[in-house]
Amino acid sequence: MALALQARETGSTPGDRQEEPMASANPDPGTTRTDYALCMLCEAACGIEVQHDGVRVERVRGNAQDGFSRGHICPKGVALADVQNDPDRLRRPLRRVGERWEEVSWEDALDETARRLHEIQQRHGRDAVGVYTGNPTVHSYAATLFQGFFYDTLATRNRFSATSVDALPRTLVSAQLYGNQAVLPVPDLDRTEFLLVLGANPVVSNGSVMTAPDVVNRLRAIRERGGRLVVVDPRHTETAELADTHLFIRPGSDALLLAALLNVVFREGLAEPGRLEAHLEGWDGIPGLLAEFTPERVAPHTGIPAETLVQLARDFAASPRAACYGRIGTCTQEFGALASWLVDVLNVATGNLDRPGGAMFTTPAADLPTLAKLLGQPGHFGRWRSRVSGLPEFNDELPVATFAEEIETPGEGQIRALVTHAGNPVLSLPNGRRLEKAVEGLEFMVAVDIYRNETTRHADLILPPTFGLERDHYPVIEHGVAVRNVARYGRALLAPPADARHDWEVFLDLTERLGRARGGLEAVKGRLRAGLGRALGPRGVLRLMLRLGPQAVTLDRLERDPHGVDLGPLEPRLPGILGRGKRIRIAPELLLDDLPRLARRLGSVAAPPGGNGLTLIGRRTLRSNNSWMHNSERLVAGRPRCVLLMHPEDARRRGLADGARVVIKSRVGEIEAPLELSEEVMEGVVSLPHGWGHGRPGSGLEVAAKHAGVSANDVTDESFYDALSGVSCLSGVPVTVTAAGA
Ligand code: SF4
Repeated sequence: MALALQARETGSTPGDRQEEPMASANPDPGTTRTDYALCMLCEAACGIEVQHDGVRVERVRGNAQDGFSRGHICPKGVALADVQNDPDRLRRPLRRVGERWEEVSWEDALDETARRLHEIQQRHGRDAVGVYTGNPTVHSYAATLFQGFFYDTLATRNRFSATSVDALPRTLVSAQLYGNQAVLPVPDLDRTEFLLVLGANPVVSNGSVMTAPDVVNRLRAIRERGGRLVVVDPRHTETAELADTHLFIRPGSDALLLAALLNVVFREGLAEPGRLEAHLEGWDGIPGLLAEFTPERVAPHTGIPAETLVQLARDFAASPRAACYGRIGTCTQEFGALASWLVDVLNVATGNLDRPGGAMFTTPAADLPTLAKLLGQPGHFGRWRSRVSGLPEFNDELPVATFAEEIETPGEGQIRALVTHAGNPVLSLPNGRRLEKAVEGLEFMVAVDIYRNETTRHADLILPPTFGLERDHYPVIEHGVAVRNVARYGRALLAPPADARHDWEVFLDLTERLGRARGGLEAVKGRLRAGLGRALGPRGVLRLMLRLGPQAVTLDRLERDPHGVDLGPLEPRLPGILGRGKRIRIAPELLLDDLPRLARRLGSVAAPPGGNGLTLIGRRTLRSNNSWMHNSERLVAGRPRCVLLMHPEDARRRGLADGARVVIKSRVGEIEAPLELSEEVMEGVVSLPHGWGHGRPGSGLEVAAKHAGVSANDVTDESFYDALSGVSCLSGVPVTVTAAGA
């Protein structure tokens, strides 16, 4: 009981506080008990069973009583205990003093942060402060809801996030077609009879923009009920291993492949949008626009024979319940926005959008499109452009491709101070070395983060919020793209460190202090904003969202059932969730204007495999969570995972042997990694996982440093991006590979 009631001097007086551990979390201090929660490490949001003593986690297992995740857990979920208990995890604010770090009180750290940010903005303007938000932000509903308080107060145009690393094309297309970036189609995995997967590896990612825990069994079930799984990828991925058919495709050619499939669908009269036809705007022009993308012309660019493309189109169109699903590989390429658009056009053309077994829209208890509107982010695009390269904003954020140059380039609007939240852009963004150098030159940097990582080691102050099971979890984003309608809520189980603050409290504290530093009316505004936030608290907002949402679910009910509430299979939602006019703008000008660029690609000569050039693609591994879980001994144990995969034929041509150390060189840099020969990758393609490159001086991740690997983003190129969206091409980077020391 003592732990549950532990007082924490936060300086905040939130109303409906989210963080209190369960009243019964530790009725008998020192003893172990078992409770249920939700894993907050990735989109799958698996139900977990946690053995703990109220402070430390002893063991994490899958919760077999959770009807959605059905007992599934991955190695990362088990290793949640390692991050939770990690001695390297920061628990008190740190201030840099030369090369040393010293602990400071929250009050001092927050005051100093607000003062420095204010001074810099006063001297150089609001845009002089940049903001970067990392992927884990999505998995904290409180941060998702409350970060805007602070960022709106900063009022800078220099905002960046992980969205433009790999997801922006998808959300941009949703904004263009459906009028809201949060109206996101997900494959109706449990009922589909034909799943076409492009550039995604759900077996390892456990679903991305698709919450699908226990995905392996869900995919297996497609074949068990007589359906088909087709995977198109430059690598024979873990998902391809489960498929009926795997087609190797040249990196960056997915948009061409999709255009060719549609070409066949139209020319053979297979298009049947069904009931949606009445809601389509601009539909009639699409067949003509895709007429030149014949399978015969597309084939040499994709590496897939024309007859295979024709058959794939026919089979997909003939299936009564088919869904095309594209993810990171389709987003992070030269035609990322077009590829994401064509995925939806294919689903529409074959009558599979919004029909059971097709690509559907979740009906979550807390409605995502409404949230996007409330946060003022339904999805505007190109209202203004970046200062240096002129790349377009999306939802008030700039593509990360522009991040380094906006720090480096002098002039009005230059970034001179940086705020990061739960991010490690030095390892996560293209040309990380350039960004790192740029970050070193900042006047001030503050990181809201639980680790001193390769980026936050450059900060002046690190403010570590609570983590994981120290806070409650409602997967507000994840449930919004779930393959089944569900609502699950995980109570906080652990007592946070003494005097700790939650991420949302940090944002509100900074909002108030920044206003105070500015003085006058700004001080009043800051106090009011922070006061409103504290009065509501994340749980208060959640309670409201559930009450106003499309499902009859209350927070009280969710709290009573730690295994979640099943709200049934996905239901058709169109045209109800569309914006004004209830029309799908299937042919938005923005995307049509980009089609000629894709057509020009048809006219170029496709290089045969076996030349000097190779293209690099990324890879995700089950034991990695981007860059931030390599400090778990159990996740990095065993054989090194940061290895370059190369086809044996490519290695033979270059005289390279399995296990050799090789130099991977691109326009922006070079790195050295061990080579693994594998027919998993197609000829002409090499693959390196991302998120590695630890062990840099000053970072505080002892285990990760011993398993450092190299950062793939030291060779990815920030100037190689999708001209429409500005999203960097992390897939298909031209590289050379030679023997190390040659
Ligand atoms: S799949 Fe994701 S949510 Fe599930 S246990 Fe693994 S990391 Fe956690």
